[in-house]
Amino acid sequence: MKDETKCLHAGYTPKNTEPRVVPIVQSTTYVYDSTEQVAAVFDDPTLSLIYSRFANPTVMAVEAKIAELEGGVGAMCTSSGQAASLLSILNLCSAGDSFISTAEIYGGTVNLFSVTLKRLGIECIYVSQGMSDDEINAAFRPNTRLVFGETIANPALSVLDIGRFARIAHAHNVPLIVDNTFATPILCKPFEFGADIVVHSTSKYLDGHALQVGGVIVDSGNFDWHSGDFECVTGPDASYHGLSYTQSYGKMAYILKARMQLMRDFGVYPAAHSAFLLNLGLETLALRMKGYCENALAVAKHLAKSDCVESVSYPGLETDAYYALGQKYLKGASGVISFVIRGGRENAARFINSLKLASNQVHVADIRTCVLHPASETHRQLTEQQLKDAGIDPAMIRFSVGLENVQDIIEDIEVGFNAVRSGLSGV
Ligand SMILES: *Cc1c(COP(=O)(O)O)cnc(C)c1O
Repeated sequence: MKDETKCLHAGYTPKNTEPRVVPIVQSTTYVYDSTEQVAAVFDDPTLSLIYSRFANPTVMAVEAKIAELEGGVGAMCTSSGQAASLLSILNLCSAGDSFISTAEIYGGTVNLFSVTLKRLGIECIYVSQGMSDDEINAAFRPNTRLVFGETIANPALSVLDIGRFARIAHAHNVPLIVDNTFATPILCKPFEFGADIVVHSTSKYLDGHALQVGGVIVDSGNFDWHSGDFECVTGPDASYHGLSYTQSYGKMAYILKARMQLMRDFGVYPAAHSAFLLNLGLETLALRMKGYCENALAVAKHLAKSDCVESVSYPGLETDAYYALGQKYLKGASGVISFVIRGGRENAARFINSLKLASNQVHVADIRTCVLHPASETHRQLTEQQLKDAGIDPAMIRFSVGLENVQDIIEDIEVGFNAVRSGLSGV
C-alpha cells in the first residue's frame, strides 16, 4: 500500500460483519475464563490483552497504522509527545548513562533532557548539527547509549542530516532516535536513511486538528542490540522471570520492552477515545501534508519579499541554509515557518497581537493557521545561550500555516505588517 492508502486502511481490517470503523473499546480490562490464562498473559503480555494501562485494541489499531506509515516493526502510543521522548530514552538509559542530542530540538525536550533526566542521573551531551564528524565523535563516552535529533527542528527549522548522524551513531554501536514530528512519515521516513527509532508528538500533524495531546514511539527493528552494551535489552529482566527481550521477541525487542516494562510501570498510555480521534486525523494525513507544504511555500516566499522581515527560515526556500538537506530527506518542507521580524521582540508582539485570522496559541501544526513567539512563550525557560544554541532569535515568530485559502493567510500577514510599519514610523 502507498501512504494515502495506508492512512485509510492500515492497522484495522474488519472481518465479516465487524464494524467498518475502528471501534472505541472503552474498557480498562478484559475477562478470562481461568486464572491459568491470566497467569500466562502476566508472564508474556504479548499473548493477549490484560489491562488498558499498557494495551488497548483501539490504541493498538492506531499503533499498527503509524508503524506501517513509518515502515517500522511496531509502535507504542503515549499520552503525550513528551512521554514518547522520555520513554524512548529511559528504555535504554539508566542512572550513570549519557546520551548525545543535537542542540536544535524542541524546547520542551531540552527541559526534559537538561533538567529532569539530569535529576535521574542521565546526562545529555549536546552537539550542534554544524559540527564536523570528528567533533561529534569526541562527544561520545563509554556510557553513551544513543543519539537523538529532530528531522525538522521545532522552531529552528534546521533539517537533520539523518544519514550522517546514523552513520556516526552506528560507528559507536548505539542507535539513532529521531523526533519526526514536523515532517511526519508522509514527508520523511527516517528509517529509510538509517534511523533506528522514531518518536512523534501526535498532538501536531498526525492529529492535525488540535484535539488531543499524544505521542508515539516507533521501532524500525533494525538495530542490533548485541552490537553494543545493551544488557537492558538483551539480558534477563527480573520483572518477567528472567525473560530476554531480544531472545523472545527478536526485531521487536525494543518496542516490546518499552511497553512491558516502562508502560507497565509509568502508565502514560492514551485513552481509547483519544486514539479514535487520532485515527480520524491520520486518515487525512497524506492529503493534509500536501496542502500544508503548498500553502507554507507560498507564505514563505511572500515573507521573504517583505520589508518588515529580517530573515525567513523554511527549508523549502531555495535560499534557505537547509534547502539541500531538505531536498535530500524531505518530500516537502511541511507547514511551519520561522521568521525574524525587523525591530526586535516588541515588533514580534505587535505583529502577533494584530493578526485577525491566525490565532496566537501554544501549538503548531493545527489545521488552522496559528502563530506564537517562542522567546516569550514556548521557550521562555531557556537561557539566552540556550536560545541561541536552539537557533532562536528573540524577534523570531513561529508561523504555522494552516489549510485556509492561502490568499486569506497572506492578507492576514499584511494586517500584521501594517501594524508593525505604523509602530516603526511612531504612529
Ligand atoms: C510538541 C512537540 C513535542 C512534545 O509533544 P507534546 O505532545 O506536546 O508532549 C516533542 N517534539 C516536538 C518536535 C514537538 O513539536
